[in-house]
Parts: sequence; structure tokens; C-alpha cells
Amino acid sequence: MRMLTSGPPNAPMPTDPDLAELDQEQLTEAVVERGGRPFNARQIARWLYRRNVTDFAAMTDLPAALRDRLAAAWSCSTPAVLRTEQSEDGTAKLLLELPDSARIEAVYIPDTPRQTFCVSTQVGCAMQCGFCLTGLMGLQRHLTAGEIAGQVRVLAHRFELAGSAFNVVLMGMGEPLHNYDATMKALRMLTDRSGLAMPARRITLSTVGVLPALERLATEPVMPNLAVSLHATTEELRDRLVPVNRKYGLADLIAACRRFPADRRRRITFEYVLLAGVNDSIADAARLARMLSGMHAKVNVIPLNEAPGIPYRRPSDAQVDRFGRALASRGVTVMVRKSRGRDIRAACGQLMVEEESSRPVA
Ligand code: SAH
Repeated sequence: MRMLTSGPPNAPMPTDPDLAELDQEQLTEAVVERGGRPFNARQIARWLYRRNVTDFAAMTDLPAALRDRLAAAWSCSTPAVLRTEQSEDGTAKLLLELPDSARIEAVYIPDTPRQTFCVSTQVGCAMQCGFCLTGLMGLQRHLTAGEIAGQVRVLAHRFELAGSAFNVVLMGMGEPLHNYDATMKALRMLTDRSGLAMPARRITLSTVGVLPALERLATEPVMPNLAVSLHATTEELRDRLVPVNRKYGLADLIAACRRFPADRRRRITFEYVLLAGVNDSIADAARLARMLSGMHAKVNVIPLNEAPGIPYRRPSDAQVDRFGRALASRGVTVMVRKSRGRDIRAACGQLMVEEESSRPVA
């Protein structure tokens, strides 16, 4: 009988990795297995994240032998930019293509007050919230960690921000807590000191409240800011607007938020999409204020971005104002979110990759 032995140290590895999918620990291990040193892994991360260089041959400070070995065997996938649409207000929406031809969108929002990248965590979404276009696509697949972090890499490079401070919001297509492991790994990649070295407080994870995953998030070493998409103050209405509420109800969600270890600096943001005649009454505001009382929280009121296929209307500016004031007068910190990029359908809930075939042929 033949014994299985490990091959000589520099033999080709059974599966050569995609560099984009490795966190720093895995990268270090893989580089060392191929005869490199841990600091070579840090050099590679610098090339990849700070300069978006994916070609090993161009990583000139690596030992030549290691460079050649990696260039011969490793790959590095990066989302390809198919199209960029620029809004009047400076917001830019990128249509990105992944190696399997799946398409996602990512958005660059300048000066809010800092630059913000809004990235996707899934192709489509399974949550089917009643007013969100992404939900209409259904879930096509989860993104990998490398694809989530890769969007930030592409945006940082394209807008020349890799060396400066910017925010990342996981508010693009998809539900980040429905793709938990890849999302957390992407956060580790983005915060790693050798790469973009983002402070976790510059990253915001927005969720409809997938409870078991939210409880897990509370224990993570890399802790992003938390935003919770609430949208309703009764179980009955939230069941309708946010179907996942039928499984993980409002009362339990609020209880989990109250338990969430938010220190005083980092309050939980509650997103509340305002739908005319549905959830925008003064009674709704009063219930919302009561529900959040004593919590270190703030409310982000988002007047609906209307779209064909969405059966709700945007309230008047006066009604939005009344709702905001009703919250504020009850002691709630409230912000009315200004919609950015509506002219290019890059605003909240408007990310949806349309079928090419439904477009007029040029
Ligand atoms: N699935 C996560 C991440 C997406 S964030 C979540 O729901 O939190 C996208 C934000 O935009 C959410 O708060 C969502 O409720 C909001 N949104 C969706 N559709 C919208 C629309 N048509 N107008 C305004 N906001 C919308």
C-alpha cells in the first residue's frame, strides 16, 4: 500500500488560490508554504489593496523566485467595471461583472461629509421587502468575501481614495447577515493593517434583522456600525413590508438590539423608509419613539424612492417633515436621508441589475 505523503516544499499545491479570496492569515500561510516569509504576504496585501495591483510580476519588491512562482500558479480575480453612470450630484453607480458573469452594482457617494462606498453582499436578495427593487430580482447567489472586498478595492482605486479615509456601507444589493461568513471575512480583509487598514467604525452593516446572525455579530472581534432596517412599528405591518419579520419578529428584533453591545459612541441606526399613508402617521412616529426609548439609537428616515413595480408612494416633503419633527419632539435623534443619485437609480433600494435583453439595442 502506498502511503500518502506531502510533496517537496515547492511542488505545485493541489489547489492554487485566488489571492482575492484570502484573508491575511490565509495569505501568510499560503506564502510561507511556497517558501516566502510572512512579511512577503504583507507586501502582497499592500500591492493588492492599496494599489489594486493584481499582477504578481509587477510586485517588484517581492523576491524574484517567489514572484515567478506565484505568477505561474496563482490568480487574483477582481470585479470588472462594465459601466459607470454619473449622477448630477456626483454620485456614481458602477455595474460590475464577476468571473461567472453575474452582475452587481456598487455606488460611490462623495462628500457625506466623507466619501462613502456602498457595496453589495449578494447578487439579488432573498428578503423581498415590499418597496425594494433588489428584492424583485430574487437571490441569484451569495457573493464571496473576495467579491465584497473587491468592490471596495475597485472603488478606492477608481476614485483614488486608497490612501485616504472613506466609509463603507453594506447597503447595496443583498442582505449581509444572510451571507454571514463571507461578509465577516470581507470585513477582516478591509480592516487588516497590511491592506486598506480601514477602522471598523468606518464600516456600517445594514440588516433587516436576521436574528441568529445578529446575535453572532454581537460577539465578533471586528465590529462594524449597525444599521437596522425597521420600517414599521407593529408586527402586522412589518410582516407585510419586511417578510423576514414573520420568522424573526419586531419585538425580538428590538430586544436583540437592546442587548447589542453598542458602546456610547456607536449608536444603532434604525432605517425607516417612509411610505405615504402606510407608516408615516404621527401615531407611527409616537410608537417608534416609544419603541426606541432609552436606547442609544438614531433614526434615519428615508422617504421612499419610487420605482415602477413598487406599489407604494413617497410622502410629501411636508409629511416627511412632520414625521421627523414628531420623532424629534419625543427625544429621538433623527436624520432625514437625502437621496443621492436618484437620476441614475443609484439611491436606496434602487439597485437592480436589469436583463440586458430588456434594453433597447444600440
Ligand atoms: N438588506 C439590508 C441591506 C440593504 S440596505 C437592509 O435591508 O438593511 C438598503 C436600504 O435601503 C435599506 O434600509 C432598505 O430598506 C432601503 N430601501 C430599500 N428600498 C428602498 C426604496 N425604494 N426607497 C428608499 N429606501 C429603500
